[in-house]
Order: sequence, then C-alpha cells, then structure tokens
Amino acid sequence: MAVATSAVESRVSSEAVQALRSSLRGSVVEPDDPAYDEVRSLYNGMIDKRPRLIARCVDVADVLAALNFGKDQGLLIAIRGGGHNGPGLGSCDDGLVIDLSLMKSVRVDPTTQTVRVDPGCTSGDVDHATHAFGLAVPFGIVSTTGVAGLTLGGGTGYLTRKYGLTIDNLLEADVVLADGRLVTASASEHPDLFWALRGGGGNFGVVTSFLFKAHPVGTVYAGPIFWEATHARTVMRAYRDFIATAPEELGSFVGLKTVPSLDPFPREYWGRRACAIIGSYNGRAEHGAPLMARLLETLPPPIFNWMGEMPFPTMQALFDPFFPKGLQWYWKGDFVKSLPDEAIDTHIAQAAIAPSDLSLMHLYPIDGAVHRVSKNATAWNTRDARWSMVIAGIDPDPKHADALKTWGRAYWNAIHPYNLEGAYVNFMMDDEVQGRVPASYGENYQRLASVKAKYDPQNLFRVNQNIPPASAG
Ligand SMILES: Cc1cc2nc3c(=O)[nH]c(=O)nc-3n(C[C@H](O)[C@H](O)[C@H](O)COP(=O)(O)OP(=O)(O)OC[C@H]3O[C@@H](n4cnc5c(N)ncnc54)[C@H](O)[C@@H]3O)c2cc1C
Repeated sequence: MAVATSAVESRVSSEAVQALRSSLRGSVVEPDDPAYDEVRSLYNGMIDKRPRLIARCVDVADVLAALNFGKDQGLLIAIRGGGHNGPGLGSCDDGLVIDLSLMKSVRVDPTTQTVRVDPGCTSGDVDHATHAFGLAVPFGIVSTTGVAGLTLGGGTGYLTRKYGLTIDNLLEADVVLADGRLVTASASEHPDLFWALRGGGGNFGVVTSFLFKAHPVGTVYAGPIFWEATHARTVMRAYRDFIATAPEELGSFVGLKTVPSLDPFPREYWGRRACAIIGSYNGRAEHGAPLMARLLETLPPPIFNWMGEMPFPTMQALFDPFFPKGLQWYWKGDFVKSLPDEAIDTHIAQAAIAPSDLSLMHLYPIDGAVHRVSKNATAWNTRDARWSMVIAGIDPDPKHADALKTWGRAYWNAIHPYNLEGAYVNFMMDDEVQGRVPASYGENYQRLASVKAKYDPQNLFRVNQNIPPASAG
C-alpha cells in the first residue's frame, strides 16, 4: 500500500530508527513494513490511525528504550495494551506507539492468592492462568479486552458486586515514568501515583506490571436469558428492584439487544428486538438457580434461559464470538444514580430503533463492594452511582458508521437527562471527552491534575482521556 510521507516521517532519520531497532529485543514496525497494517489495526474498525513507528516491546528495557527514543525525537507517544479502547487511544497518527501487546506473562501465587500480570495480557489470558488455581480477578465481560486499559480506567464485570472494581483489587503496579524512571506504585510506595492509577487511565506513565488480589471463583451458574422486547418494561423494572437486594455473588446486568440471526438462537426470533439479563452467580446451580427463580417467577416466560453451570473462563469468553476484532463501534456512556420508570421507557423507545442487530444498551450494577470504598480512596470517583450505562452502536459494515453514531448520540441525548454528568472513561469516544473527563472524576479531578503535574509535567502521555497537568501556582 502506498503511504504518504508525513512531516513527522521525514523528521525521523532512518539512522535513528535503526538505532532504536538495534536497542530493542522486540521489533520496530514502520509504514513500509508488510506487517504494518495488521500490527497497527485496532479492535474498533471505525478507528484508522497511522503511526510513524510501532515499537513492539517484549520487556521493560524495550519500553525504556522506546520511550527515550520518542522523547528524543519529539514524537507523540501512545501506549497500547489490548488495543480495545473505543476511540483507539492505544494508537496515534504520525507518532510512536509503545506496543505492549506481546508482553503476556502471568504468574499466579496460590499461597497469597495474588497474580502478577504483564501489560499485554487480555482478561482471558489471566482468567486462564488463575482458573487453574480456582481463582479469578474481577475484569470485564469480554475476554479479549486488554487488562491494562481496563484496569487503569476502573474495570467492571461479573465479580464486581462482590469483589469491587478491578482497581479495588490492584495491589501494586510498576510504572515507567515520563522522566524515564521505573517505580513501583502501591499503598506504601508512591501512594499518590497509586491513587491516580486506579481510575486515572494512562495519564501517568507506562505500566509494565500489575499485581492483583485474586478470589475463589471456580464453577459459576451463568449465562443469558432473553425476553421479547414487548416484555422489556416488566423485565427491566423487576430486575432493577431485584438486584438491589440480590446477594453479591450474583454478578449480572440488564440489556436491550437483538436476538442474533444464527444457531442456536431460535429461528422464529432471529433479528427480533429483545431484553436480556446476563448473569454469573459465583457458585453452583443448587444456589444460583433458586436465586434466579425468585426473579423469574415474577416475569413472563423468556424466549430462552441458558443459565447453567460452567467454568468461569467459559462465561468470560461466552460473547467473544459475537464481537470479533474489526467491527465498527460507537460508544456512549453515563453513570446512573436511579432508574425511574420513565427512564426505562426512554431506553426501550431508543433501543427499538437501533440501526443494527449487534447494537446494544447495557446497564451494569455499581453497588456492593464498589460502594464500600470511599469516593476519594481511588481516582475512580463515582462510587455512589447505581449503574454504569453503555450504549454501543456496532456493525461490521464501515458504510454504517454514520448511522451508528447518529443513533448513539440521539439515544444518549434522550436518556442523559436521567443520568449523572460523568461517565466511565472506558465507555467514551473522543468526540465528547474534553467536557466530560472532569465531570467523570468530580471532586477527584483537581487532585488528579496535581499528580499529573508531579509525574508528567509536560503531558508526554496525552493520548488518553487526558488530564492536563495542573499549572504551577
Ligand atoms: C468488546 C468490549 C467489551 C468491553 N467490556 C468491558 C467491561 O466489561 N468492563 C470494563 O470495565 N470495560 C470494558 N470495555 C472497555 C475497556 O475497558 C476499554 O476499551 C479499555 O480501554 C481497554 O483496554 P486495552 O488495554 O484493551 O486498550 P488500549 O486501546 O490498548 O488502551 C486503552 C488506554 O489505556 C492506555 N494504556 C493501555 N495500556 C497501558 C499501560 N500499560 N500503561 C499505561 N497506559 C496504558 C492507553 O494509552 C489508552 O489510553 C470493553 C471494551 C470492549 C471493546
């Protein structure tokens, strides 16, 4: 593929690139490399960024070399973990991508029930390793998502009601700072940095290692239940009331979706709008099934109820086949304090006009263990929300990108008056970020800006949901 030579491209000499190449154990990929298009591609097919260089790091020494190179050359620097970010903040145009996706080691310590995780791991990588010991860390609901970006933004999933956000299980992180130092951030070392990393995203440095607390999780009673959209109001109201008192072992969310047009979904419902509850009870069916029955007996019969016993990693990967890399995604998020009946009706009306079968709305409970941590204990501030809402317009066809955006924005405009100002930073695109990042961090924002000024005063790490450094004085 012919590549236009950008101003930046002409600024970086081939000698400098060669020097970088020889200082890395990993590889350096440039636009004329046959692997360039594959290596630069991101999970969201709507994003098409063309970095000048991609440093495929395999260890911390590579990260240091790449970072120093980027600084010396005055390049815009992006950090890539799993590459799942909605607006593609793991990459950049014309700059240097520090690609950590090849750093994939996981080391479980069953004695201390902790797990050390490299920054290129997906949650599936970690689930695989911890499951062998009957353990798991709370991550998200799709196993191909990068642990690094998910953790730094907060992290919600099926284990969150019981064990908290992913950041509530982070014990320490190794971080390469903007000045090139490698430090460990924990409750006792660089506690200000540790506070900021837990929700503040990739603003503070390159995290090269995470240490997490893990929890006993083995076989779960889990899976999806779908109802016809005509029952959505009844289901959403009942679920809202049920989950408020349901045991925290039940991680579950409610969503508005479409029945996929493929086996094993019942053919007569293919392509029909639906309401779904997707749940994962951390325990056996003998405990999970009666709990779900309490809810189900108040509701009309579902189209199907596929909850059953399975290993936790199976549940974590259940939806992976529906969401392969390269689909078009347009994201909108909000935190939600209460879900009045009128909001439910607005959701149902907006979801009914979704532009594609994959498009969805999910409401993830924010309660239980999340509420037991104080608002200023970590950068992730919205501990008093009840839900984290995501609207995602999704479709394989790039020609439908505008329709996904139009629907997502209109849906959000209709529902936002019921919601809080801020949103989960990992559920935002970048067409709204500037106004919403401060709202998302609320009273923690100024403190984040001060930590940023201490650790990254020049805003070297700015390809993220950016928190500019507080100005001196
Ligand atoms: C299909 C799908 C399902 C999802 N489900 C959930 C869910 O259930 N729960 C949830 O909480 N979120 C979920 N998310 C959102 C997810 O948390 C974000 O997309 C997140 O940004 C992904 O992280 P990543 O490492 O894959 O992304 P990347 O695109 O690689 O990076 C995202 C951001 O993190 C920064 N970053 C990455 N690695 C590092 C590092 N080592 N050091 C410093 N900064 C770094 C990047 O610079 C960038 O700003 C989902 C996303 C997708 C696409």
